[in-house]
Parts: sequence; structure tokens; C-alpha cells
Amino acid sequence: MLRPMRFRLILALLSLVPSLNAADVLYEGARVIVDARRTPLENAALLVSGGRVVRVGSQGSVKAPKDAVRVNLSGKTVIPALLDTHIHIGYQKDLAYAAASYTRDNLADQLQRYAYSGVAAVLSLGTDPGEMPFSQRVEQERTGGTLLLLAGKGLAGPNAGPGDAALKPSAWSVATEAEARNAVRQEAARGVDFIKVWVDDRGGTVKKTPPEIYRAIIDEAHKRKLRAIAHVFYLDDAKDLARSGIDGFAHLIRDREVDDEIIALIKQHGIFVMPNLGLAASRTLSPASAWLDEPLSRETTPPLILERMRATFASRTPQALENSRRVYALMRRNLAKLNSAEVKIILGGDSGAIPDHFHAFTSHRELEWMVDAGMSPAQALTAGTATAAEFLRLKNRGTLEAGRTADFIVLNANPLEGIASTRQIADVYLHGEKVDRAALRAGWK
Ligand SMILES: [Zn+2]
Repeated sequence: MLRPMRFRLILALLSLVPSLNAADVLYEGARVIVDARRTPLENAALLVSGGRVVRVGSQGSVKAPKDAVRVNLSGKTVIPALLDTHIHIGYQKDLAYAAASYTRDNLADQLQRYAYSGVAAVLSLGTDPGEMPFSQRVEQERTGGTLLLLAGKGLAGPNAGPGDAALKPSAWSVATEAEARNAVRQEAARGVDFIKVWVDDRGGTVKKTPPEIYRAIIDEAHKRKLRAIAHVFYLDDAKDLARSGIDGFAHLIRDREVDDEIIALIKQHGIFVMPNLGLAASRTLSPASAWLDEPLSRETTPPLILERMRATFASRTPQALENSRRVYALMRRNLAKLNSAEVKIILGGDSGAIPDHFHAFTSHRELEWMVDAGMSPAQALTAGTATAAEFLRLKNRGTLEAGRTADFIVLNANPLEGIASTRQIADVYLHGEKVDRAALRAGWK
């Protein structure tokens, strides 16, 4: 064993060797979207060292050490990695969708698919029981993979929790204010990142979580310095939740058009809104869409799932399609209104919420639905990067400014000219390290 003195000497000597651990890398020639809210830099240079962005600017203006490794990215576009604020990790494993699939291996596997797709962090929203997801959250940080954030077990009145039967047992069923507060305290003790509450009657089939319960949940969360997110459906509930201090809405209001009052409440309280268009939008499609066959879709999704989706798309009746199109049209209008009012909109795919609403590709697809609803590509990208980072309080993520974590996607095309180009991925870097996408692909075969 080394004595402390000698150990310190070795450390001191090592520190004199330049770039021993983390080489400086200069990425040159790409268009770099440093911050989706601003004009991109053309022909830029991005200097990365020790997993962080050191400098970014126009090529020639960025000084790099002589021994820096140079990577030519001419013709490419670099964007900050995406952040998805609404998923349900762990339940789907190939064609099975069940609590039994909720294993450490399955969580790790799905998170690798996010890393492959350039999603640097995901928030699993209230369907995560037990200690395992929390140790996996630590593991993701330790290994530098996609960060996992957790709302642990979400809360709702009896039977009023998650929609899918496989998810239902994963949430708290609280019948009284005391039970609600106790459940929030237990989730806080587990170290959740957010508190989730469902406020929905699922088309009149269950009794909604009553106001006195969700108010107790929000109040108790705030006492523990935690923010609360509500799954919403109805305009009136959204207004009362806003007045009760809710911090975020999962889903859009879907019973009516949003009015000036709710927009004012959302803005006044700084509430974040995740539109979660994907599920509803997919139901408007028949037969199967070309995007099922895109490389990113085929690479990250087991073929059996894609096959079953094709069958589902083909089996939709005209009546079902018409109903779905009406709902989706309302959602589009509501998102367009919120967007024009400059509400804080964040990316959320709701991936994994039901069978075959598969992970990773759905985050990218959601951006396209957001643009379909009237957001500009830059606004959709902002929702999936800078605003999502603000919401998740990941202060080193969301942009590629100096000092931020070097999480970025190298694209073959410019997403500002067509948002679907976020799926034209050449490479993904997390913490400045290139994700070995070829090895991941080989492992999934
Ligand atoms: Zn959800």
C-alpha cells in the first residue's frame, strides 16, 4: 500500500502531464445551435474538455491548445442533447407490457436507447415504485449515461391514478388529506425529484382526485421544497390547480379550448406545460406511417413492436379515426394558443404510458407534432432543451454555452429547416464522450 505522502507526490506529478485524462477536443466547421432561442453559429468551433464546453464561437475565434484533437464537422449541425420531461420507464419489454418487466436491466436498456437517440435526461412521471429506480438513477449519473429523474410513486384518489392497468398499482391511492400528506412525505424521504398527481375522471369512469386532496399534495410537496406536476384533462380543474400552486401540467387541456383566464393563470404562476401530443396524434393515423420505417425508429425499437403497431394503425375504424382527429385538432389549437401567449412549453413524449408508445424515438417525434401544432422548429427545440432544463433544474444542460456539460447531437441536416432532421443523427456525445452507437445497435440485434 502507498503511504499518503508518496500517493500525494504521484498525484502531483500526474497533474503535470498535460491532457492525461481528458483530451481537449475541438469540433470545427459545423453549424452550432448553442441555444435554440438564439441564432445559430455558422462555421463554428466548439472546444470540449473534461466533459464540458470550454469555448464556443465562430471558427478562428476559438483558441484551442496545440495538442487538441480536431474533429471536422463541416456540413453538420450540432444541437444540445434533448431532455424529455415525461416518460414512464420500465413497463414494456418486447411485446410484454407489465409490472413484471420493471427490472433494473430493462430500465438500463431503455435508458441506453435514449442515450443512442441523443436524449440526455428523462423524467419518469409517477410510476416508479421501490428502491431500484433510485439506485439506477445513481448508476446513470456514475456511468455518464442518460440521466434518470424520478417522481417515484405518483398520487391520486382511489382508482384515479394512471390509466393503464399495468401502471395502476405503481401509484399511491389516497383517500384523505392525512393520507395524501403522509404519502408525499414518504416520497420526499425517498428522494424524488418531483411529486406527481393525477386529476382526471378518465371519461367519467372514475372519481377524480378531489380538490382538498390535491391541494394537500401540492402544499406538502412545497413544504418539502418539491414541485408538483398534475396530469390534467379539464379546463376547470386546470384553473383550480393553478390557483392551488401547481408547478407543471402534464398534458394539454382536452375538454375545451383554453381561454384567457387559464392563460393568465399559467403565466402568472410560471407553470410549465408539457403538451404530450404524441399519443393522441398517433391515433389519428391509418394506415401505418412512414416514420415507423425510419432508421432511428428501426434501430431503437424491437421489430415485433413495429410490426404490431402497423397492425394497430391498419385496424382503426373510420369512426375511431374521426374521434381521434377531433381530439387532436383541439389539442393543436390549444397548444398554438399557449405558444402564442409565450407560455413555458416543455418536451414530454409520455413514452411508455401504454403498450407500443415506445421509448426514445417518440421524444423526437413529439417535436414534430409540436411543429405540426404551430410552434416553429426553434420553439420546439427550445422546449426540448433550454426550457426543459429550466424545468428540470439541470442548470448545466439545455444549451452549449461555455461551462455547460458537453451533451450534444451531431446531425446530418438542419432541424431549423425541418424539425424531423433531429432524427438524422450522425453522432451523440454525452459528457463529451461519444456514445458507441454501433456497439449498442449490435447488442440490440
Ligand atoms: Zn404520463
